[in-house]
Amino acid sequence: MVSDVELVLDAHAVLGEGPIWLPADNMLAWVDIMGHRVHRFDPLTGRDESFDVGQPVGAVAPRASGGLVMALRDGFGLLDTATGRVEMIADTEADIPGNRMNDGKCDSEGRFWAGTMAFDARPGAGALYRLDRDRGVTRMLSDVSISNGIDWSLDNRTMYFIDSLSGLDAFDYEPIGGQITNRRRIATIPPELGVPDGMTLDSEGYLWVAIWGGWMVRRFAPDGRIDREIRVPVARTSSCAFGGPDYADLYITTASPEPGSDEHAAQPHAGGLFRVRPGVTGRPPNQYRG
Ligand code: ZN
Repeated sequence: MVSDVELVLDAHAVLGEGPIWLPADNMLAWVDIMGHRVHRFDPLTGRDESFDVGQPVGAVAPRASGGLVMALRDGFGLLDTATGRVEMIADTEADIPGNRMNDGKCDSEGRFWAGTMAFDARPGAGALYRLDRDRGVTRMLSDVSISNGIDWSLDNRTMYFIDSLSGLDAFDYEPIGGQITNRRRIATIPPELGVPDGMTLDSEGYLWVAIWGGWMVRRFAPDGRIDREIRVPVARTSSCAFGGPDYADLYITTASPEPGSDEHAAQPHAGGLFRVRPGVTGRPPNQYRG
């Protein structure tokens, strides 16, 4: 049984991405990467507000002391959501003008992980970084093409990671030191279907993966077996996250077709924010504790 996907915000984002629930606000944060904007959507009122952060923004996460941590074009920054003020706290690849940060998420120890990619998606140009609570930055992976979805298993011993040009991988994860080892592939997406993008784990340990170009979100078992699919009326599904007071709502971000393409008419709500209640719940997000 799959309930219907509902359009909750007809945002017409160029590249809607990075949904994450903000428990303190009871709102969903999401980003429009190329619009340089961080959004907050209030499901109770339907109101959406946004902050211009001055450069491409790939992902955000709630910060324990308030506001958000961000993965920006030039590196990591903080957003004060009361004033809209942006503070850069660590450069990652500010010296590589062809690159920007992309997807990211916090781990259980309050560190923020986010990776990079080339604006032209050139293979191998990106990396994956870990921002610690003391604001130190460590490069955890090199030779990444499009650093995308990331999340951790229920027992916190496995880290899942998507490089969109490769597939869905797992690592052994050591939570105290934040170390990853023993990379292995657990699922690939046939290129004719699309590419794997953003991801979230549910409270049963299964992975929900947005398939960019595939008009869907697909649920995988931890061993990579396909469990089910949710169809979305937009080709470019980009990411998903559970939210709502009971974490039973799965929010799905989407992107617009290429400018000038003939795909606009077939998907009038491209770039919108969608929601479905798939019958399983998610988990509260980890917060940045730096
Ligand atoms: Zn993505």
